[in-house]
Amino acid sequence: MPVQALACKECGSEYELGARYVCEQCFGPLEVRYEYGSLDAESAKRRIQAGPHNLWRYSDFLPFEQTPKYALPAGCTPLVRAPRLAEAIGLRDVWVKNDAANPTHSFKDRVVSVALAKAQELGYQTVACASTGNLANAVAAHAAAAGLESYVFIPADLEEQKILATGVYGTKLVTVRGNYDDVNRLCTELSADRDWAFVNVNVRPYYAEGSKTLAYEIAEGLGFELPDRVVAPVASGSLFTKIARGFDGWREVGLLAGETPTMNGAQAEGCSPVAQAFDAGWDICKPVKPDTIAKSLAIGNPADGPYALELARRSGGTIDAVNDDEIRAGIRLLAETTGIFTETAGGVTTATLATLAARGDIDPDERVVAVITGEGLKTLDAVRGTFEAHEIDASVESFDTALPAAAAV
Ligand SMILES: *Cc1c(COP(=O)(O)O)cnc(C)c1O
Ligand SMILES: [Zn+2]
Repeated sequence: MPVQALACKECGSEYELGARYVCEQCFGPLEVRYEYGSLDAESAKRRIQAGPHNLWRYSDFLPFEQTPKYALPAGCTPLVRAPRLAEAIGLRDVWVKNDAANPTHSFKDRVVSVALAKAQELGYQTVACASTGNLANAVAAHAAAAGLESYVFIPADLEEQKILATGVYGTKLVTVRGNYDDVNRLCTELSADRDWAFVNVNVRPYYAEGSKTLAYEIAEGLGFELPDRVVAPVASGSLFTKIARGFDGWREVGLLAGETPTMNGAQAEGCSPVAQAFDAGWDICKPVKPDTIAKSLAIGNPADGPYALELARRSGGTIDAVNDDEIRAGIRLLAETTGIFTETAGGVTTATLATLAARGDIDPDERVVAVITGEGLKTLDAVRGTFEAHEIDASVESFDTALPAAAAV
């Protein structure tokens, strides 16, 4: 397995593969560095294809020695062609990567799988996280499967569905009076003197690696080919940037040929520090106070914001923002054209895709993949009042009165 070290994204200083996340030289973020020199593309491809039907099939490209004995399998979610969605927005080749089809119904199962595998390898008995909701679901569930103790910290005002779907796993659920950025600051303080693996703090470099498996699955699903464009949501910017890193790593080893796809990031207007910086031409983001129905994306001070900006610009993409009404419309558009019901984050992605298409940014023949990261049942309030139900008596007359257009001829 060609994992080499942790390396600083800013100055390149290298560190051992432990539980650390900031560079001691420059305080830059650390990431996992691989040494692919000896890896043969054809045999790597054979190992992938012969692997299990979950994200462990990409073990050659993940930062641990052994897949854990007790784990909740994640990944290998459907990549489906969406011709009716494409037609609705004037395109021809649109695909949906449906990551709601993970064990806890969001893409966070990927990052938690990898973070917990590494945490166990490093000997941790207790895992924790600061979450906007989906990470809490995933940490609680994966810790239960692995037999680890867990503490999850969330803002107290999260959607009830997400709180219930977390507590059920027997985690220690801590609801913090504050927003995500407050929760994250608290967890950073706690991580300093507790012997816990905070999946998105001290083992964040491994957590982030999990997102690459989304890129691997997209490429494998397209027959080891790259799409022309990817539209994906941006909260901290980790997922967005790691999708591109996943493609780039596979290009490096010869599993894929061609350019990095055009990368379009999607944010909610009520929390769009990266989109605002993109528009203003800044290299860094100005923190904001979130106010949006897309709570899973409500990070006002995004750790990977500058890298998301750099990626969008380098790949010819953009970072766009859509408002709450557009998010609701995006949820409905995806549901009505693909049969996939997504949470608010997926509404952000779908609405952004529609905006890009309407603006003429996308050539109709481009192969576009929209990354749908979570399940609609988690944010039911977002669709309340967006359609009408017809209540009737149990009689044909009552039905015919309520829906005259459906009357028998
Ligand atoms: C966490 C999350 C994201 C993206 O998070 P990043 O911090 O940008 O990696 C996207 N969609 C959903 C549903 C999420 O829960
Ligand atoms: Zn550094």
